[in-house]
Amino acid sequence: MTACHVVFLPFMAYGHMIPMADMAVLFASRGLQTTIVTTSSSAHRLTKSIQKTVNYTHQIALHIIDFKAGEVGIDNPDQIISNERMYGLLEAISKLQEPFEEFVEKSQPDCIVAYMFFPWTTETAARFNIPRIAFNGTGFFALCVSDALSRYQPTVSSDSEPFVVPHIPHEIKLTRKQLPQLEAEEFKMFLKVIMQAGEAEAKSYGVIVNSFYELEPEYVHHYREVLKRKSWHVGPVSLCNKSTEDKLERGKKSAVDEHGCLKWLESKPPSSVIYVCFGSMVKVTGSQLHEIAMGLEACDESFIWVIRNDQEAWIPEGFEARMQAKGKGLIIKGWAPQVLILEHESVGGFVTHCGWNSVLEGVSSGVAMVAWPIMAEQFYNAKLVTDVLRIGVSIGDVEWSADSTCEGVMREAIERAVARVMGAEEGEDMRMRARELKEKAKKVVEKGRSSYSDLTTFIENIKEFKYKTTVA
Ligand code: UDP
Repeated sequence: MTACHVVFLPFMAYGHMIPMADMAVLFASRGLQTTIVTTSSSAHRLTKSIQKTVNYTHQIALHIIDFKAGEVGIDNPDQIISNERMYGLLEAISKLQEPFEEFVEKSQPDCIVAYMFFPWTTETAARFNIPRIAFNGTGFFALCVSDALSRYQPTVSSDSEPFVVPHIPHEIKLTRKQLPQLEAEEFKMFLKVIMQAGEAEAKSYGVIVNSFYELEPEYVHHYREVLKRKSWHVGPVSLCNKSTEDKLERGKKSAVDEHGCLKWLESKPPSSVIYVCFGSMVKVTGSQLHEIAMGLEACDESFIWVIRNDQEAWIPEGFEARMQAKGKGLIIKGWAPQVLILEHESVGGFVTHCGWNSVLEGVSSGVAMVAWPIMAEQFYNAKLVTDVLRIGVSIGDVEWSADSTCEGVMREAIERAVARVMGAEEGEDMRMRARELKEKAKKVVEKGRSSYSDLTTFIENIKEFKYKTTVA
């Protein structure tokens, strides 16, 4: 039988393109023929992933489908800085169905792996009689919590009164102000896409998850057996980046030179550095940047802090020079080689917005975390880190932000949380648990282990589907 051909359709934001590109590399490493379909303005972000597969039986192919005139460039993630732009993009991608179907008709793939914002791919898959696999970019815990909360209205007297998430394996408390607030008129479009994504997921052949069984076993069972979703865990997919070069240019070219960054890290004792980064989309306000700087200076731990390259003006006068002179801190202005930094033995803690990729990369590196969620399903991921895995502490009382803004946390809270995760007792306990997870993460992707085997099952399922439709 010829190799199965899997087509990936990622959403054009770094947090989605990066894991899907890693997944394509992983599939290619298992002998599958893979094609990533994306727009011309996003294609360059995949060059590095494609290069990784040059020695494989099948190299990743790239197929470009494009927006109409007037929509071109709308998918630049650096510019998805307002809800309006996000809606413009969601609107535009709904029109990609036609060129995508032309490609499917011509290339006859055996399976489509599509991000949740392309719900129309269920129609495509039905039309061509191939399986559509949903990819939501998050873990089993968040999928189970989202499902529980979609059927339950908490009876609480205020937005800050905690309630217990019903029908899930652990007692997890949330407040209404930590949940997505999508009822307002301005979110109508977004809510529509989320609803369509849910319906499309239910109609899909299955869901592929960037996670591993040993990380959240109760939620793998819950998702499969209680929610009755066919699913495969194939992560952590970031572990397919083996060389320094792979890790350096994941998503975007790094804003720091590798040698300077590694030399700085090498000058620090093991587990002594805290890494601070809010992913690719969060907007940290000027006053919040100021508080972070003050909090980091007060707690006196060595740090690497990633800020956007247009935010420098908000850093307090003399702060960077002081930190450099004392050898205390490195500020990266722009894109950081996150996986390379996290995996360095000098890094012991991670202040994170709890985007799923960051959480999983933190877990795979064995670091303790300060969970500082901002938006999307990050509050659920934060609970997994603090309450279930017990490898991190919460930054404190923060609310879900409708426009991805990080603000309002004072320096004292930052200093306290960083001191706890970097500390010798509580911090070391958390790090010990995190290191155990790191060891498990490294093993599960090896031949015969859980993530490797689930990918084998996935491949068999796709082949079976193909066989059944061929003989039918
Ligand atoms: N990332 C990185 N360097 C940066 C910022 C982000 O390499 O300076 C990567 C990070 O390693 C992760 C992804 O971008 O793989 C961000 O995904 P995540 O789910 O954590 O957050 P999002 O950006 O989607 O909010």
